[in-house]
Amino acid sequence: MIVKVLVTGGAGFIGSHLCDLLLTQGRHVICADNLSTGSEENIRHLLGNPHFEFLRHDVTLPLKVETDEIFNLACPASPVHYQRIPVETTKACVYGAINMLDLACASGARILQASTSEVYGDPQVHPQTEAYWGHVNPIGPRSCYDEGKRCAEALFFDYWRQSKVPIKVVRIFNTYGPRMHPSDGRVVSNFIVQALRNDPITIYGDGSHTRSFCYVDDLVDALARMMATPDDFVGPLNVGNPAEVTILELAELVLGIVGGKSRIEFKPLPQDDPQQRQPDISLARSALDWSPRVTLEDGLGDTVRYFRRLID
Ligand code: NAD
Ligand code: UDP
Repeated sequence: MIVKVLVTGGAGFIGSHLCDLLLTQGRHVICADNLSTGSEENIRHLLGNPHFEFLRHDVTLPLKVETDEIFNLACPASPVHYQRIPVETTKACVYGAINMLDLACASGARILQASTSEVYGDPQVHPQTEAYWGHVNPIGPRSCYDEGKRCAEALFFDYWRQSKVPIKVVRIFNTYGPRMHPSDGRVVSNFIVQALRNDPITIYGDGSHTRSFCYVDDLVDALARMMATPDDFVGPLNVGNPAEVTILELAELVLGIVGGKSRIEFKPLPQDDPQQRQPDISLARSALDWSPRVTLEDGLGDTVRYFRRLID
């Protein structure tokens, strides 16, 4: 019998790539999304597929559908978006987790939570392993997202302990690729769009702080592999590309690929912006037999081609 999979946030950047992958794996996919930061454009190519259904739905409300597996991705993910609607963001994390866990309980489905490296906050341990409890400001401008995602993790583990719901918790590190929204505000899309328009490249701070960027195809491959692991493997599991770069190096890489006339402009670093971030992915390598395959140069090349087409 065909496996039915619910993807919340399926019309977003990562969610739409996950829907693509699951359909190629022969699943029936139900995509639930309120289109707050996602777009129907991301899934337009799937709308005629008999194994794909789109439900316009807000995960802060209960949902009843028949499903065998749930990937819970619905949540604003870019700092620009989640800081614009902080209360809605916490609700998407917390009520969304409760509603999807209740659905998993009712339907007997496995459920995977798209958690985040932000649960580590501005980390004092480097690189970050899953055992690290994090260094998060509970009252700052990022806390709606960081604490919302931390609470969602707590809920997942409580439903697992209390009600034996088969859970999977994945901590996703910075991910990039085609279908990021051009005005989403994250660093990769900002730099590429700025370079393509010959606008200044806006580096916040002095550019010495770091991130580790994972190409979206590698990321969704890991999510699907995690869902297929035995019930006793619940995570949390770091998924990302450990190749760490400074934000200045990223700007120079993008400028090298795009060409053009942009110059670099330094702006103030936002409050609570983490100084460094690099996943320790030893557990993902061994448990999923997975490691990222796409280099930053190749992934940025694909992403630049995508944005060039979009902007032209
Ligand atoms: P995105 O904004 O493109 O996708 C999020 C999707 O969720 C959007 O389609 C949006 O419309 C939908 N959504 C938001 N609130 C909703 C609600 N209340 N009900 C229903 N749908 C709602 O962002 P993304 O980068 O694709 O992120 C997807 C998931 O992965 C998020 O949970 C995010 O926290 C997590 N994540 C992403 C990254 C990254 O670097 N992209 C890193 C860590 C974690
Ligand atoms: N950043 C930047 N210029 C931009 C957008 C972001 O220098 O135009 C910086 C941001 O301050 C952060 C890093 O790039 O240090 C990654 O930001 P992003 O919003 O992509 O992700 P997150 O902060 O959630 O890791």
